[in-house]
Amino acid sequence: MAPGATIDPATVAANVATVRERIAAHGGAGRTRLVAVTKGFGPEAVVAAAVAGVDAVGESYAQEALDKVRALGGATPAPLHFIGRLQRNKIRHLAPYVALWHSVDRVELGAEIASRAPGAAVLAQVNISGETQKAGCEPSATAAFVDALRALGLDVRGLMGIGPLGAPEAARAGFERLASLAGALGLPELSMGMSDDLTVAVECGATYVRVGRSLFGPR
Ligand SMILES: *Cc1c(COP(=O)(O)O)cnc(C)c1O
Repeated sequence: MAPGATIDPATVAANVATVRERIAAHGGAGRTRLVAVTKGFGPEAVVAAAVAGVDAVGESYAQEALDKVRALGGATPAPLHFIGRLQRNKIRHLAPYVALWHSVDRVELGAEIASRAPGAAVLAQVNISGETQKAGCEPSATAAFVDALRALGLDVRGLMGIGPLGAPEAARAGFERLASLAGALGLPELSMGMSDDLTVAVECGATYVRVGRSLFGPR
């Protein structure tokens, strides 16, 4: 579907209900919140998701997120979470609108967020797939990375990870690792799981799943 393609609110609402049922069936009721990933779709997808009662909307690209905020009159009708690769020079523009930054993977980005939005809520991204092109700190460096973000005054709520490409079960070991890292550090939030591997993530303790295609169709 091309950006701005027509969104049918009733279909989105039905898809949200189906994803919630899948979350519940895998043990996530009352724990796993649903972040509707609206990248690739227009502002009407944000509205449809908010009306359907998702917990947050997730955007991956700074300019696209800003365009939607503007089209919606300066605020999103559900909390806006930034989930994509961050560029330092975009943080200043995004900071007024972002309720939770999921994808902080370098101390320099944390420093920029802390200077534009002191005390902001963030998740530390950890590379759990072992794929070198994936963002995130090395799992063994997580404690030091979290300490460095806290030293900047950021409110580090938890960890975020992206599973490997491939069969959903291939993500389980990484999700378990992320959950045990968060547990060891006393961090409550775990952002993991997308359309293809969300049930595995829920079984491993996800508190946020980030779901796009299962709600809005192919991008
Ligand atoms: C695009 C994206 C998602 C959503 O992916 P779907 O496969 O559409 O569910 C989740 N997390 C991140 C970081 C993304 O970039």
